[in-house]
Amino acid sequence: MLTPCIRTLRLKVRPESYGWLNAAAIEVNQTYNFCNEASHAAATRTDLKRKWLTGFDLCTLTAGATEYFQRIGADTIQRICVEYAQKRAAARRLKLRWRVSRGARRSLGWVPFKAASLKRKGQALRLCGKTFRVFERERLDGVRWEQGCFAQDAVGDWWLCLPVEQSAESTVAPQEAVGIDLGIKDAAVTSDGDRLEALRFYRDAQSKLAALQRRGHARQAKRLHRRIRRRRLDACHQFSRRMVNTYQTIIVGDVSSLKLAKTRMAKSVLDSGWGMLRMQLQYKGQQAGRRVEVVSERNTTRACSNCGSLTGPKGLRQLVVRMWVCVRCGVSHDRDVNSARNILASGFSCGTSISGNEPSPAQRPPSQIIHLREAGEHATQAAT
Ligand SMILES: [Zn+2]
Repeated sequence: MLTPCIRTLRLKVRPESYGWLNAAAIEVNQTYNFCNEASHAAATRTDLKRKWLTGFDLCTLTAGATEYFQRIGADTIQRICVEYAQKRAAARRLKLRWRVSRGARRSLGWVPFKAASLKRKGQALRLCGKTFRVFERERLDGVRWEQGCFAQDAVGDWWLCLPVEQSAESTVAPQEAVGIDLGIKDAAVTSDGDRLEALRFYRDAQSKLAALQRRGHARQAKRLHRRIRRRRLDACHQFSRRMVNTYQTIIVGDVSSLKLAKTRMAKSVLDSGWGMLRMQLQYKGQQAGRRVEVVSERNTTRACSNCGSLTGPKGLRQLVVRMWVCVRCGVSHDRDVNSARNILASGFSCGTSISGNEPSPAQRPPSQIIHLREAGEHATQAAT
């Protein structure tokens, strides 16, 4: 079975086009700021003709504006109008923040375009009469893209962001189900004991980063930040791919990084990229026809996955407790594997589907959950 899905390709633009893109970004900012001003003026008029301008209204207002610009074309201007109107409607504000073209508070460059305006030309791409070359061009072979944009990152490099439609074949995974506990010591631990090591890239690089910032090497520091981000993303991709290729049903805890980010664990939390991992599991799972669920993490650390009594370590204070023995049934647990098993069991007891359209799983009666726990016990005994 083939399921179509949209993925965004990010391709780095070759540096020879940066000058043009930087100049085009200023024109984009001017158009955006015009939209901001025009819609604010229309919404706050003192006579009775106040109006909340839509994207369509803004397109009409900016019609013919191309003659004032040297680089961007009508399609880019229309895209800006529509995006501006959407953003303003979502923010429910009379006015949005200006896009700043120069100085320290400069907005990162953004040049949107419509799908038909970007054309292939041999090994290169053409937009508005300008030729662009990108790295890894072969990734665009044979794909159909939708409207996209050129976007600049904090280092100053430009990227071509193109949503493309891909069809992925959904298969059946070799193994049944897995529960994943997202944690701090290890970023993720599965009910089978597989671990994604904590992604402490930020911590490792911290002293280097501090040294760079002290010496005023802002650009190098930004580069290092970007490298850290990429390494973290890469490790998450590998782990989520392994999970999706191995298991048919994937159940993840709903741990909130926002709540823990306020504690003194903040740095480790922000470093571990839970949100990213969960998102990847969801879209990759959906693509491959897996069932991916997010369940409440409540009591998953405290409950014994064997007998269900709340005998485990509790709260942030006992975060140091890695191994414990249930006083009720005497089974010893690894903290994270135990909670991953609880997550797996609770995924079978409540049937909310995140990925949407597949049939909701059969509601398992509590008796079967106990069977599941017994299966867990055998596994524990086999391990010890
Ligand atoms: Zn127990």
